[in-house]
Amino acid sequence: MLKINCSVSVKDKKILDNVSLSVKPGTIHVVMGPNGAGKSTLSHAVMGDDRYTVEGSIKMDGDELTSLPMDERARKGLFMSFQYPVEIPGLSMKKFLRAAYKSVHGDITVMDFKKVYDTASKSLGVHTKYVNDGASGGQKKRNEMLQLKVLNPKYALLDETDSGLDVDALKVVAQTVKDAVQDGCGVLLVTHYLKFLEYLQPDDVTVIVNGRVVEQGDIKLAQKIEVEGYSGY
Ligand code: ADP
Ligand code: MG
Repeated sequence: MLKINCSVSVKDKKILDNVSLSVKPGTIHVVMGPNGAGKSTLSHAVMGDDRYTVEGSIKMDGDELTSLPMDERARKGLFMSFQYPVEIPGLSMKKFLRAAYKSVHGDITVMDFKKVYDTASKSLGVHTKYVNDGASGGQKKRNEMLQLKVLNPKYALLDETDSGLDVDALKVVAQTVKDAVQDGCGVLLVTHYLKFLEYLQPDDVTVIVNGRVVEQGDIKLAQKIEVEGYSGY
């Protein structure tokens, strides 16, 4: 279980106030909220981005993460996909992912890694040679899913992985998330799209407004927000 119980600030400005939620293995916990609510801040803080100061506790399968640097969190099996994936021209996607794989799971030969990579990239239809170089928004999100598939984390923080995708890409991304969950991965998913959620059937939904949890529930809560928006909070 990934158990989050914390407040988060940036440069003395409190962004998240006593946010409390947990993600069970093999389930999806959705975080919704208006722009600027603090959803990305939550993912970054859990991953260990050192721009964010965390007060409180973030525990993964019983281990306290708050004092650990990002790379150690990744080695423990935590993964994050970015709302705005970066482009790294000149760094091959395969080399990058093999390095990431090695630092998380230990050494793997070029040949063995090729098998892992080819299987994952075939089902996702990813074609960029360099990390996100010249990729469209949708291709970048597919590349993030390629990382998820290859790295096979225990818990994944997926920040608006569905935004900017066409219908076909949306299905591919949703299927990748479903597969990961089936394999036991616990997913914290930030999204605005009910369609994506109806396909994914999340277990829990948390709504954050202005850095505070205002309501928690299940998919019915997401359906309510689709109709009513956030203005009632
Ligand atoms: P959301 O993802 O819900 O749209 P964010 O977490 O990106 O919201 O942002 C929440 C608030 O925190 C915003 O007011 C944003 O400007 C602020 N914020 C987030 N990250 C930083 C940062 N690194 N430096 C300064 N302000 C930040
Ligand atoms: Mg965001």
